[in-house]
Amino acid sequence: MLNPDKHWTDHAICRGADPELFYPINYSVPVMAEQVRAAKSICARCPVRAECLDWALRAGEPDGIWGGTTPEERRYLRRDRRTAARPNRTATAA
Ligand code: SF4
Repeated sequence: MLNPDKHWTDHAICRGADPELFYPINYSVPVMAEQVRAAKSICARCPVRAECLDWALRAGEPDGIWGGTTPEERRYLRRDRRTAARPNRTATAA
């Protein structure tokens, strides 16, 4: 149970985790893929994953793993949000 008197970041289970997992450095594709996988496995157990992802999407966070997503995945999610928010242009006036 989350303490409602605390900010969502106080419940983040990545506190104290190796920052390199959440900000992988591209030494090689296999190493980076393993860092991303490890970070995502932590995010999958995090009680504030939704809050974290929402913050990263609204802030346009360009780097790192946030809410279990990579920067590229967040770019797709932001694009989907923008598309969903647009008025329907196929409707015609009667
Ligand atoms: S979802 Fe991941 S990056 Fe976000 S607070 Fe939780 S563990 Fe940290």
